[in-house]
Amino acid sequence: MQNKISRRALVKGGLIAGALIPVIGFEASAAAAALVPLDPKDPTAQALGFVTDATKVDAAANVTYKPTQKCSNCVQYQGKAGDATAACTIFAGKSVPAGGWCKVWAAKPA
Ligand code: SF4
Repeated sequence: MQNKISRRALVKGGLIAGALIPVIGFEASAAAAALVPLDPKDPTAQALGFVTDATKVDAAANVTYKPTQKCSNCVQYQGKAGDATAACTIFAGKSVPAGGWCKVWAAKPA
């Protein structure tokens, strides 16, 4: 039995892998683009006090709110540093702005 991998098989495998990597990247960005911006009037968003601008949080009504809290530093935020919007695990299929906020905010681990 011959277990040697031919050079031709290696090249062929490398070409297939090289062709698939951009496809996978495209799928990930297409999934992000498919997100719908979360409407603050959405019933769940309203129940959780969601706002698109954390500086406009009613601090009297949200006593746990601190001015440093925003979606981009929340554990539920799925974006990278610098992303303007990203998915939030609380609101499936929706995107939230980096500067937004809701009552579920919890610090992203450092
Ligand atoms: S759970 Fe976090 S990321 Fe999602 S809307 Fe609330 S504050 Fe923003």
